[in-house]
Amino acid sequence: MSKNQVQFQAGYSLPELFHDYGTEEQCRQSLFDWKWPQGFVCPKCGSSSFCTLKSRNVYQCNHCHHQTSLTSGTIFASTNLPLTQWFLAIHLITQSKTGLSALELKRQIGVSYNTAWSMKQKIMQVMKERDDSQPLSGTIQLDDVYWGGERHGGSRGRGAENKIPYVAAVSTNKKGHLIAMSMTVVKGFRLTEISKWAQQHLQSGSLVVSDGLACFSAVKNAGCLHEVIVTGGGHQSVTKEEFTWVNTMIGNIKNAITGTYHAIKPQHLPRYLAEFCYRFNRRFHLEDMLPRFAFIAVRTPPMPNRLLKMAENYG
Ligand SMILES: [Zn+2]
Repeated sequence: MSKNQVQFQAGYSLPELFHDYGTEEQCRQSLFDWKWPQGFVCPKCGSSSFCTLKSRNVYQCNHCHHQTSLTSGTIFASTNLPLTQWFLAIHLITQSKTGLSALELKRQIGVSYNTAWSMKQKIMQVMKERDDSQPLSGTIQLDDVYWGGERHGGSRGRGAENKIPYVAAVSTNKKGHLIAMSMTVVKGFRLTEISKWAQQHLQSGSLVVSDGLACFSAVKNAGCLHEVIVTGGGHQSVTKEEFTWVNTMIGNIKNAITGTYHAIKPQHLPRYLAEFCYRFNRRFHLEDMLPRFAFIAVRTPPMPNRLLKMAENYG
């Protein structure tokens, strides 16, 4: 699909959203179908026979009497918000091209800033967990980047205090077209870290192209072929054809994140990077962003605020 096909695809409009998910009942029915595509299954005993306690929106198993709800055990757990507000938030965030700040979300859906912030973080967490489970394949351009620091400032690794290291990887097909990308915070550019990263994020048999940074040879531990392109360091590397895509996407993600969010706490950076990648990786599928997201969201464990605010365990 060409760039124009991405820009001019039909997409999914607000009137369509309100038509499909405008009422609480529509949202509940959809969530039910995504959570239990084959019909209700008791999370405790596996029985499919249930009754509904309408007043409390609770489903009770006829066999073991365990009570459950549509949102329990999911990223929506313990929410007090109507599902219509959640669906609107998911729609706005997944359809946005460069990202939607919590402040903007607060205005658009009419909730407090703290509520909007927490919804936004939970939605990004779903995106992160989803893409973390989908390794890149094909030919992969790899680069080391620091958030908050000068890129290719000459002395790699040194002077990097307070800067957050992350791996930038983009996959291309045989024609050299960009397919997908992944931006992952790591503890540092060391063999053990890159080895761990590669085993999660790269499909074995892929061809990885990087510059001569020693730790990148660890992609072989994930069963990948490794080709080193000597760049001579400095700004020369930016002009190397082998790294065109990864350099472009590093620039795009920095512009998008700094333009939309202004200030990000270091511990939340992994989610913001993941949000950008998630949307990019699904750029040909604007029309079904919401159902695809929601299907995963009801399979993503709850993320209490206490955990959302804590430092991420990088990697
Ligand atoms: Zn049961």
